[in-house]
Amino acid sequence: MLDIIGVEKTFNPGTVNEKKALRGIDLHLDEGDFVTVIGGNGAGKSTILRGIMGIGGLNYSGKVLLDGKDISKSSITERAHNGIFMSFQEPVAIEGLSLIEMLRSALEARGEKLALSAVKIRISEALEKVGLSPFIASRELNHKLSGGEKKKCEIAQMLVLQPKLVLLDEIDSGLDAKSCKNISTILRDYQKEIGASYLIVSHNLKILSELTVDQEIKVDSGRIVER
Ligand code: ADP
Ligand code: MG
Repeated sequence: MLDIIGVEKTFNPGTVNEKKALRGIDLHLDEGDFVTVIGGNGAGKSTILRGIMGIGGLNYSGKVLLDGKDISKSSITERAHNGIFMSFQEPVAIEGLSLIEMLRSALEARGEKLALSAVKIRISEALEKVGLSPFIASRELNHKLSGGEKKKCEIAQMLVLQPKLVLLDEIDSGLDAKSCKNISTILRDYQKEIGASYLIVSHNLKILSELTVDQEIKVDSGRIVER
């Protein structure tokens, strides 16, 4: 499903603030694979996920292939339309934009024209699964949600958008133990249903309680140092 070949990323090249964040990342994920990424703060974990999603400009070098197709030069939108989904380490709040409007536009943008009522049903079901109130659908995106609620909201978005490649950046931070187990179960069931692949950055093994890990990679100073 996913091949990452020799991906490198340098922030602020040629300046005193130059930072080589990734130094040749190679990774292969099959359909239905569950891969975890561990490593210390600043190791490059989020930078790997952002590179796959196409965030931070196109100035990553190396190749990212999705189902054998080179998407290294594709925009974030194109990558999302090809079935990649990313949940942020720190989800941003967007005032003036409701969750329902955001998801409806996202579905519409990829050609799924659904009535507002149909979108509402999908979102309500997803919010209920993750343990959030359905009223969150009409509230501003992530606005005044607690840290853990934001993470649950990210998973609700995944359930609505139905991606085939799911990138989760510290999805468990801020989640209590019971919620962590619930999200783990949701990820397992979603994987069974869709055959989705996951790349998950985590410091917490609880999120894996219901899942079978196929591969664990350890990142240090922008390199994969253990598999
Ligand atoms: P983590 O493994 O904790 O997720 P990151 O991938 O976020 O680490 O960051 C890797 C390194 O790159 C860190 O040293 C970080 O400070 C640096 N970095 C990340 N984003 C930028 C940026 N936009 N500009 C400069 N340095 C950055
Ligand atoms: Mg990070």
